[in-house]
Amino acid sequence: MSKKFNIYTAIVYATGKPHIGNTYEIILTDAIARYKRLSGFDVYFQTGTDEHGQKIEKEAIKHQLEPQEYVDQKTLEIKQLFEMINSSHDKFVRTSNPIHKEKVAAIFEKLYQKGDIYKGFYEGLYCIPCESFWLENQIKEGKCPDCGRLVETAKEEAYFFKLSKYADQLIDHIEKTPDFIVPESRKNEIANQFLKVGLEDLCVSRTSFNWGIPVKFDQDHVIYVWLDALTNYITFAGYPDEKELSKKWPADVHVIGKDIIRFHTIYWPIILMALDLPLPKQIFGHPWVLIGDSKISKSKGNLVYVDDLINHFGVDEVRYYFLSQVSFANDGLFTYELLIDKINADLVNNLGNLVNRTLKMTEKYFDGEIPEGKKLTDLDKDFQKNVLEYQEKAFSYLEKYQVADALQNIFFIFDAANKYVDDNAPWQLAKEDQERLKTVIYNLLEAIRHGGILLAPFMPKVSKNILEQINAEKRDYASIKKFGELEPGEKIGDITPLFERIDKEKKLQELV
Ligand SMILES: [Zn+2]
Repeated sequence: MSKKFNIYTAIVYATGKPHIGNTYEIILTDAIARYKRLSGFDVYFQTGTDEHGQKIEKEAIKHQLEPQEYVDQKTLEIKQLFEMINSSHDKFVRTSNPIHKEKVAAIFEKLYQKGDIYKGFYEGLYCIPCESFWLENQIKEGKCPDCGRLVETAKEEAYFFKLSKYADQLIDHIEKTPDFIVPESRKNEIANQFLKVGLEDLCVSRTSFNWGIPVKFDQDHVIYVWLDALTNYITFAGYPDEKELSKKWPADVHVIGKDIIRFHTIYWPIILMALDLPLPKQIFGHPWVLIGDSKISKSKGNLVYVDDLINHFGVDEVRYYFLSQVSFANDGLFTYELLIDKINADLVNNLGNLVNRTLKMTEKYFDGEIPEGKKLTDLDKDFQKNVLEYQEKAFSYLEKYQVADALQNIFFIFDAANKYVDDNAPWQLAKEDQERLKTVIYNLLEAIRHGGILLAPFMPKVSKNILEQINAEKRDYASIKKFGELEPGEKIGDITPLFERIDKEKKLQELV
């Protein structure tokens, strides 16, 4: 039986089209999930929407809809976007699901009976957009530390969850589990900014709105967002049936935007501790996509949506851009100009050109038949060694979810192959040395097969296209362990350009 690998994203708040950061999170998680499947794991990948709360209630009223109708519409749009980006999630959850609601109400009651939830009175500094109360020492210049907007004083009767009871246990866990929070910078942030200043009990009910899950034994109270939203990770994974749950939980990695890492590294683990359930093995607080200064993003009010990008540039082009542009620990920049430059340089010039000219030479010199290379020179041996080395590096980065670094090393293979073409000048060999020409073309086709297979998690369609064009029968990771598994004598497939060069000025005009 293959090994399990459980991967979760955060759930998207169903108030509108997800912004570029949420969408990046799905693309990133999808790439990791696909990589693990190709590595032989039995993957469970869960994502979905957070559908309750005051903001949604207000938006629904504004649109003259019932909240349920409103979230039905929004969630449909979000699902369509996730399909467009070719997300391979196994489960899409929605917190307005009746079964989830029942389970959350039961969790609330269970924690109340256990004494971990108690009734009190809350007065504090509140950020309305974030639906968060803040401690005095977390506020700078009257502003919310998460979103930077002004907080206001708010007061109401509420239920509280005893975070403080579990604080030491959590600190202990973080100290003893060095990989619990990655990257390192995120972990330090959590430890220094939040845990060391002490945890105040968390407000887990509201009376100021209705759109949520009522507290069973006190119907004026609606269960406040954290206990409702965070518990989705278990309610849809089999909880409270422990045997069912153990198949999908704990998460091997929980992929979370750095802006909400506090909730996932403090509140969520503590909720799990209170329920006697295992914590996620790892929480990866991924960086953001920053919208850079671009003529077009200005004219559009800085709103960039991934479905628009896909319509203009293609799905794998967009996936490639974000996966290569945002590194493991540092924010990545988006501008239309950068996107177009990257497509033209990396995809059209480097990868597309390599594949196209190699296939055309195979067609021209060998009537489309994959030649057999026999005698290897030092140049060939070096080239093969380079391919395998970059590949090895790509795999080792992927093991650490350093997706951008992995992709960079895959593209080093294409760089090396282009250089190999130039160094060997096959058009020259065609006149002088047929045997040598066979070896060079074979090595190029085989390097392209390696690269094509390696690209599968990031650019699934392009990967398939490459492997079809060279007509590679072997397409799994096992077949690239060593160089030379491509079968000579087979005919290559139909040759079509992988990418289209983008006329930058023209495209920018179109986009405004
Ligand atoms: Zn805020």
